[in-house]
Amino acid sequence: MSEGLGRDGYEVAYDENGEVQIVPADKDVKAPADLGIIDVSSPITFEVPKDAPAEVKEIALEGGCSAGTAQMEAAARAAGKSDILDQYAADYPQGPHDKPQSMCPAFGSLRVGLRMKRTATILSGSACCVYGLSFVSHFYGARRSVGYVPFNSETLVTGKLFEDIREAVHDIADPEKLDSVVVTNLCVPTASGVPLRLLPKEINGVRIVGIDVPGFGIPTHAEAKDVLAGAMLNYAREEIEAGPVPMPASGKSDRPTVSLLGEMFPADPMVIGQMLAPLGLAAGPVVPCREWRELYAALDCGAVAAIHPFYTASVREFQAAGRPVIGSAPVGLDGTRNWLANIGEAFNLPADQIAAAQNQFLPMIKEALAATPIKGTITLSGYEGSELLVARLLIESGAEVPYVGTACPKTPWSADDAAWLEAKGVQVKYRASLEDDCAAMEAIKPDLAIGTTPVVQKGKELGIPSLYFTNLISARPLMGAAGAGSLAQVVNAAIGNKDRMANMREFFEGVGNADTAGVWEKSPNLHPNFRTTNLKKLERAAKAAKAAEMI
Ligand code: SF4
Repeated sequence: MSEGLGRDGYEVAYDENGEVQIVPADKDVKAPADLGIIDVSSPITFEVPKDAPAEVKEIALEGGCSAGTAQMEAAARAAGKSDILDQYAADYPQGPHDKPQSMCPAFGSLRVGLRMKRTATILSGSACCVYGLSFVSHFYGARRSVGYVPFNSETLVTGKLFEDIREAVHDIADPEKLDSVVVTNLCVPTASGVPLRLLPKEINGVRIVGIDVPGFGIPTHAEAKDVLAGAMLNYAREEIEAGPVPMPASGKSDRPTVSLLGEMFPADPMVIGQMLAPLGLAAGPVVPCREWRELYAALDCGAVAAIHPFYTASVREFQAAGRPVIGSAPVGLDGTRNWLANIGEAFNLPADQIAAAQNQFLPMIKEALAATPIKGTITLSGYEGSELLVARLLIESGAEVPYVGTACPKTPWSADDAAWLEAKGVQVKYRASLEDDCAAMEAIKPDLAIGTTPVVQKGKELGIPSLYFTNLISARPLMGAAGAGSLAQVVNAAIGNKDRMANMREFFEGVGNADTAGVWEKSPNLHPNFRTTNLKKLERAAKAAKAAEMI
């Protein structure tokens, strides 16, 4: 491919009148001083006027994913949302970098609501956000409609949007069909201060749960699941405190229960239940729950197993109800041994009863691990919250895992897993960014990269066999003996594809990538000087934004 300018090809540009111009790229072209590219790195700078909520709302209306999060947050705070944003900042700490790359966080809470029986979901946000969210939720098999209260600048600025939401909630709250209605403020209504807390708490016995799930306050969609689960547990806890509540449809266990925090493979709660039986215990509901009355049963437990470690708001509700919370999970040999011991301790069980349970299950797990070994070096990253557990299982199966990245934050509930992994020489990166995950993969050059979609894409470009964490790893049992053997087949098959990946890479060698991808009749025109100019412009804008923030 020829370098520089003066190559065959054409330029497409606009003239002063906005007409399209196509000119042969046959002469030396200099980058213009100002490319006229819209700078989205710092869309609007403003000072939030303290007493001008209408102006704040107008600014918020300009916002969205492409708006600076600082501006959106400032607008939300000026509009009276400081309390909730401070709570989110404490529950879901950001850093070491600001925000892992992830889909719109509201998808997490939306999915939790859509999976619950007799629950209606209403979104309040920009139409493009709601379109994207309802598309993704139906892509992932939502079986019911997503409600939407649209708005425009007038209804937002005048407060009519809140009236519209209240009307929609009254219209839909039919106790024959529903136990609860979840109303979610997305970015713009949150930044505008739409006060969902002023909605009625219940209408004809239908509970109304209003939550703010802004992209500028919740780092990942995993944590947004906790926002809704926590809000529902809070509601249910207050109902319990106020008087008797109905029993769950599935009845009540005659043994003390352990509630399970985190969405997991459907067989896992059953496997955990089997392991709890010799301790005289039973598995309680999985939170996020599938029906309202399960929330009461979940709170009625003897202890909580934080299988996924990022449910901070939910943990707060369990702790307010006086329930002890146990971290990690019964994965692999060491994990199961310690978890059974911690559960036994939480219930004050005698040591010999705990040892009997361990002796019953650990040999089965050992056997399963030995029967399905994994050989090879694996890098692992994801945003599900189970990354550290999967890494433990892979290592006990024989794999080398030098790096584990998770988009989730560091919490006490994964501390044992992190310590175990670090003792094995694993680099554990909380709040890992895509760059962290890719850099680890490129440096380590593993036999297999397990990761998110862009990591897998990058891995394949490099000829490294790669597996999607969400679709292929999360969709398998992890707990007890069932989990011990479940990963080997898919992992070993992928590692075995290394030669095929190398052949494919060789086959596609020389095909363009990034902005030169595709079929070109002639060589694409590269303009490194244009890029340099634009890069400088973006850097200048970023510096100006930083300076404005400091003022
Ligand atoms: S609601 Fe989601 S998609 Fe919409 S602006 Fe916020 S983060 Fe982006």
